[in-house]
Amino acid sequence: MSKLAHTRLKIYNTIARQLHGQVPCWVCGLHVAPPDATLEHIQPLSEGGNSHQANLAISHAVCNQARHAIKPLQP
Ligand SMILES: [Zn+2]
Repeated sequence: MSKLAHTRLKIYNTIARQLHGQVPCWVCGLHVAPPDATLEHIQPLSEGGNSHQANLAISHAVCNQARHAIKPLQP
């Protein structure tokens, strides 16, 4: 398991424990099932964000992709 996948699982489990099994998507707010979960940088790395837990949130894979499609990493 990669470091990022391990971090994602850790954050997912932390949120699930805090919210009694509910893990809201950072983009759309609906529950994210474990297979759909991706780790989102709240402040993108390209804009000076870091990979600390405070800058990471769970979102659906499709929501994550849609967000980056609207706002490309390269300006
Ligand atoms: Zn979503």
